[in-house]
Amino acid sequence: EHTESLNFLEQIIEEDLAAGLSKDKLRFRFPPEPNGYLHIGHAASICLNFGLGEKYDAPVNLRFDDTNPAKEEQEYVDAIKNDVAWLGFKWAKECYSSDYFQELYDWAVQLIKEGKAYVDGQSSEAMAEQKGTPTTPGVDSPYRNTSVEDNLALFERMKNGEFEPGTYVLRAKIDMASPNMLMRDPILYRIVNKAHHRTGTDWCIYPMYDWAHGESDYIEEVSHSLCTLEFKPHRELYDWFLDQIYTGKTIRPKQREFARRNLSYTVMSKRKLLDLVNSKVVSGWDDPRMPTISGLRRRGYTPAAIRKFSDLAGIAKRDNVTDVSLLEFCIREDLNKTATRVMGVLDPVKLVLTNYPEGKSEILHLENNPEEPNSGTHEVPFSRELYIEREDFKEEGGSKFFRLSLGNEVRLKSAYIIKADSVVKDSEGNILEIHCTVDLDSKSGSGTEASMRKVKGTLHWVSIAHAITAEIREYDRLFLDEAPDAHEDRNFLEFLNPDSLKVIKNAYLEPYLAGAKVGDKFQFQRLGYFTLDKDSDPSNLVFNKTVGLRDTWAK
Ligand code: ATP
Ligand code: MG
Ligand code: MG
Repeated sequence: EHTESLNFLEQIIEEDLAAGLSKDKLRFRFPPEPNGYLHIGHAASICLNFGLGEKYDAPVNLRFDDTNPAKEEQEYVDAIKNDVAWLGFKWAKECYSSDYFQELYDWAVQLIKEGKAYVDGQSSEAMAEQKGTPTTPGVDSPYRNTSVEDNLALFERMKNGEFEPGTYVLRAKIDMASPNMLMRDPILYRIVNKAHHRTGTDWCIYPMYDWAHGESDYIEEVSHSLCTLEFKPHRELYDWFLDQIYTGKTIRPKQREFARRNLSYTVMSKRKLLDLVNSKVVSGWDDPRMPTISGLRRRGYTPAAIRKFSDLAGIAKRDNVTDVSLLEFCIREDLNKTATRVMGVLDPVKLVLTNYPEGKSEILHLENNPEEPNSGTHEVPFSRELYIEREDFKEEGGSKFFRLSLGNEVRLKSAYIIKADSVVKDSEGNILEIHCTVDLDSKSGSGTEASMRKVKGTLHWVSIAHAITAEIREYDRLFLDEAPDAHEDRNFLEFLNPDSLKVIKNAYLEPYLAGAKVGDKFQFQRLGYFTLDKDSDPSNLVFNKTVGLRDTWAK
């Protein structure tokens, strides 16, 4: 009955619905920890959860998993909200694990009263040693059989700030012989003497991820709690905790796991991205070389391209690495449909049309987007002196060179056919000017016989007298290695690409671009896609190269 194919998580949901789960009980969440900016891996989780919300017409909460005040900040909360909204998704509720601190605390007290949790005052080393190994049972903590009264008193004193960090923790009393190490009396609370970005100094004990996450899902009545594969062994603990607190809500959340999105030639963990920011290898979280949503946005990526990428890369059961060229394919395809075509010359050489009247100029019309029939045209001034790209001219072209060479013709885009006659050089032999004759009957679109002539090459150009200058930033991969953080013996920073940023200070652009606004996207004809950067001001426009017209990495 389903025409489209379902991914394995959708299959699980369909089975649950078939087994009697009411569709209006479906609820999802995206649960970022506000300890950094979101990256393209998070986009996979966002597109998955919000995509399920759209598919099943179910609410999706944005839940900040803010249980570690040592690493979390309001700046990150704001950036995360901005990024999710920019991707085009609307959350049902904005939630915070910290909103549930009291409820979580009360449940912990209940666990103590039921003899299912105890305060442990040993060092973390001692506790780690007692845990044993997956094949040998652990050893009970000497605190494991403290009386309920003593545990309640100790836990209260922990909460009241009477102890130093690291002196006491609250542990669940589960099974020190479990083959699942996570079940060997895991920690529920630790002491952290740090102000929290939302609860200030109200608390000095903070719940661990495992204790907070499923319980937050339960409070919010999340039906399917989707997380990445490394949490698979946590599922047993997730369920054990839910068993203890379950008070009859109609939804019992279900944790299911999918593979993380990895991308070639970059790193994705927030800790490593923070390293790049702190060490000033990049200019910030939104440096256009970063795999962050904010970096990709600044680079010129669109929400549509990122969503398309998530779609094409799909949801997997096993870890894998997605090639970055798929991401580039998605943005190229999107911008091809939407970006206005303009002309700019990055490495100029002067061209003089010797038979074009001095002092004359005329207005030509450049098609805004041939992919979009109703996109119209814009005006481009043309005159006797132009810039073209230095690499578009060779004195001796040879039979495979379809650009300009002495004695040969090319068309200037949306203008005229020209023929190169001679060059002017400096004393070192560098070409200063190319002198050409223009066929004045060959104007593009004029319908004349001369305008229909076929010539092999078409070049982009700008009129020198009318051009504006701009700074261009071209980016290459940030890392030279396909998987920079997969080397056990070497730090990922050793694989940085020293040439990942190339700045061109004086590019010449057609004057139409003077009206560009930050974030506007253009195809510079024959060069690639570019977007106006936030570093721009009216006297210094800065364009970021988003991606070239073709995959230059393809072999
Ligand atoms: P990081 O190591 O980058 O900090 P994290 O998993 O600790 O990642 P969270 O903020 O906790 O980051 O993640 C929020 C949600 O996004 C979680 O459900 C997490 O599983 C998911 N997520 C994070 N990274 C990826 C990824 N690379 N691919 C898919 N989902 C991811
Ligand atoms: Mg996490
Ligand atoms: Mg993390």
